Amino acid sequence: MKNSNSKLIRKLFDFGGAPILAVGVLGLFYLEKRYALRKRKDALWERLKTNTMVSSTAVAALRLSLIPAMVKAASLGEKHNVGLLRILRVPLPLNHFLSFLLLDYGSYRWHKLNHRFPFLWRFHQVHHADLDLDVTTALRFHFGEVLISVLYRGGWALLAGVSPRQVLVYEIIFEVATNFHHTNLKLPEKLDRRLADFIVTPRMHGIHHSVIRDETDSNYSVVLTIWDRLHQTLRLDIPQDQINIGVPYIRKHTDVKELMVMPLQQVPDWKFPDGQVPTRV
Ligand SMILES: [Zn+2]
Repeated sequence: MKNSNSKLIRKLFDFGGAPILAVGVLGLFYLEKRYALRKRKDALWERLKTNTMVSSTAVAALRLSLIPAMVKAASLGEKHNVGLLRILRVPLPLNHFLSFLLLDYGSYRWHKLNHRFPFLWRFHQVHHADLDLDVTTALRFHFGEVLISVLYRGGWALLAGVSPRQVLVYEIIFEVATNFHHTNLKLPEKLDRRLADFIVTPRMHGIHHSVIRDETDSNYSVVLTIWDRLHQTLRLDIPQDQINIGVPYIRKHTDVKELMVMPLQQVPDWKFPDGQVPTRV
């Protein structure tokens, strides 16, 4: 089983999804420089260096730990015939559709937990501490956050009763969507709104990276926006030129070393360094 799982990961993720993702990132990097949505605050080169290094630790944790664990959980479910979709026994096309919905809902719940639980926020704030938001932020996660997510997301895949193949296809779509909604790409406003009826857009996710607490604690969805709608955590009412990106207690560029030790330090209050609480007038 171990061998067939590794083969499937290589076939679908390494030779299927990864090249698509790499080309997509380069394309989005070019487009967001050409059609910028928000003005940049931090120096591009410094951010590029920091984000590339932090992202490479996250990608290693994703490829070597999270993906094999989720695939393993799904194949264990298959072997022992457990999980919701195996109880439901619906026709295959519906099974594929439901597997996607279940996995995407799991991503919403996990993201929300990262904002609700102080221990998880210690890791997730590394992603939010970026002073700008673009495609280089998309994979800027502390590797600890990825490793901790193994238990939750692996357990979710097992309980959902999805197959290893469904896990891998979802994971590729998850990464494509993550790269897309973190970009600083100015889509025509009408198109952005239309898309936000179904999927998370750069404008929608920009609000999630605001220094204002109410706005950060909204828009947790990863692929489909339906989860934010159902839980009433959707915000689309903030113009991008009024969004201050980041967390209020970090207002300077943080380097790799500072970001790596950040989860070990006490989280400051949600205030600017001068003591003011960010609010919207
Ligand atoms: Zn977040």
